[in-house]
Amino acid sequence: MFRLLILTTVLVFCNAALSAQTNLFVPRNYLKSYENGTRSWDGKPGEKYWQNKAKYVIAARLEPKTRLLSGEESVTYFNNSPDTLKFIRIKLQHNRYQKGAARAFEVSASDVSDKGVSLQYVAWNGQKVEQKNLRPAQTFLDIALNDKPLAPGSNAVLVVKWAYTLPAGADAARECVCDSSTFFVPYWYPQIAVYDDLNGWASHPYTGLQEFYNDFNDYDVSITLPKGFQAWGSGEWQNPDELLTPTYLDRWKKAQTSSEVLSIFSEKELLNGGVYKKNKANTFHFKAVDIPDFAFAASDHNNWDATSVVVDDKTGRRTFVSAVYNTASTDYPQVARIAADGIRLMSTWLPGYPFPYPCMTVFNGNDGMEYPMMCNDVSTAPGSPMTLTIHEVSHTYFPFMMGINEQDYAWMDEGWAAFFDYKLSDSLSNHTLGRVRPYAEIAGTDNDVPPMVKSRNLSTAYRNASYQRPQNAYFTLLDLLGYEKFHSCMTTYMDRWKGKHPEPFDFFQTWNQASGENLDWFWKPWFFEWGYPDLAVQNVIFDEAAHCQVILIDKKGNIPVPIHLEVSYTDGSKEIFHYTAVVWKSGQQNFKVPCPAGKKIKSIELGSTTIPDVNLTDNKWGA
Ligand SMILES: [Zn+2]
Repeated sequence: MFRLLILTTVLVFCNAALSAQTNLFVPRNYLKSYENGTRSWDGKPGEKYWQNKAKYVIAARLEPKTRLLSGEESVTYFNNSPDTLKFIRIKLQHNRYQKGAARAFEVSASDVSDKGVSLQYVAWNGQKVEQKNLRPAQTFLDIALNDKPLAPGSNAVLVVKWAYTLPAGADAARECVCDSSTFFVPYWYPQIAVYDDLNGWASHPYTGLQEFYNDFNDYDVSITLPKGFQAWGSGEWQNPDELLTPTYLDRWKKAQTSSEVLSIFSEKELLNGGVYKKNKANTFHFKAVDIPDFAFAASDHNNWDATSVVVDDKTGRRTFVSAVYNTASTDYPQVARIAADGIRLMSTWLPGYPFPYPCMTVFNGNDGMEYPMMCNDVSTAPGSPMTLTIHEVSHTYFPFMMGINEQDYAWMDEGWAAFFDYKLSDSLSNHTLGRVRPYAEIAGTDNDVPPMVKSRNLSTAYRNASYQRPQNAYFTLLDLLGYEKFHSCMTTYMDRWKGKHPEPFDFFQTWNQASGENLDWFWKPWFFEWGYPDLAVQNVIFDEAAHCQVILIDKKGNIPVPIHLEVSYTDGSKEIFHYTAVVWKSGQQNFKVPCPAGKKIKSIELGSTTIPDVNLTDNKWGA
């Protein structure tokens, strides 16, 4: 009895010490990372934070006629974890097309195959892996290491030879056989899954819905294509001098420092020949360090525009920006300019952090999808390509520079991309473009799931939890903190977690600390609770003591939003009143807005386009 009492007391004390660090609910399994010192309560990476890394050397070949992609890779994998790894988990994401695989979206029957990725050879540390030690499961393949596990602090080399046929059906989302000789190729090489301090090996297969969670790796990639084809990839092109004739090499070099958009080649020039020195197959060589994935594109008949933009005023560093497109895509001649102007704003305003990559290519594919240094963007003609371009390019920050686990918390990246695409497009277009995601329509329904529910567990509720609700939360946060404080929090967050894997509490705690305010009252309703935003004009009364009219605002919903009022007076004048969501910080349900003495209110309109409100009928007062 006594012993039990001591034990209970110790446990209660420990728990209290941990939970005292936040008012937010922290899942029990996350508490371990604080106990282990891999994360810390102030939101910084813990003293014992670690993550694993791989260095990929890949040689691949694409045969456009058969769509056969084949490759061989040598991957050096570094186990920086304190754990002995008894197996290595490989991602074979194309196996989403295998018969019987779990898929979030239908795919064309012609793309479904029995075998998926064909593995011709797998070796671990110089020894061929026997078939019995290869354990496939959905889009994963586990390699059992048996009596030779990978010890902490050691590394080993994986060699894989593989091939598969690129899916060509119209339902092939995010990847593209755009026409018979134009390709956008992601999810294409065997990739070592993430092993992290929170969950060990990543366990969610790729179904086509939830997106990235990758370690920061180095890539040395060579892609061989038939004569007349150009490749673009997630990295700096290493051998233009070897491949291009002087005219086109000169254009490519000029564009590296040009602020104007130049043509590297037109579709006609590429088709006419003369771009390449050799009239035979070419091998395109790319390199990149510390990036979370590698995608490439290839075509023998696209236009290539390019420019560059200064992304760091302190050093003068520039990013080389390309748009590659079919002549029929009439919106695409604007894309290189938009991407460069967007990257400049990203570097200097929102998020206000120098763009981390040396290059960025927006490729005319079939979707709106980001990869490091590459976007697969469909033509939006006759509409504007601005919002789509900005959205996908801005993903460079989240999830690529900040290694977000999107399979668990997509709001940590899609919400930001939706926030940036609105703010930047709105600014670049003189307020004519920019898309507010319609959160109010769905808020408070059973499809409005709190974003802290893991993305991997969502299907119909995925989009709202990942885009709409967090975009609107971040609007409210910017309004609440003001630009200076918001930017300072963002910079602190990025400095701390750049090239690492932040989880939600790292984000919440860092912003609490950097802002100097405990924002748990804000995080809790927006990210943890069911509910909705709803403000109402309750009434207008005359305050005898203040000798003026007072507007009474009711907070009917639990989610805190700003009060934005346009008040018209009987003398014909108008006035805007704006209060950030901080007015609801202590749980108040009402707020009083005093108007100037001597004025009489004619009518009131409450709300704005960036303030969600589920019921607008109670937002008006008067004539
Ligand atoms: Zn996105």
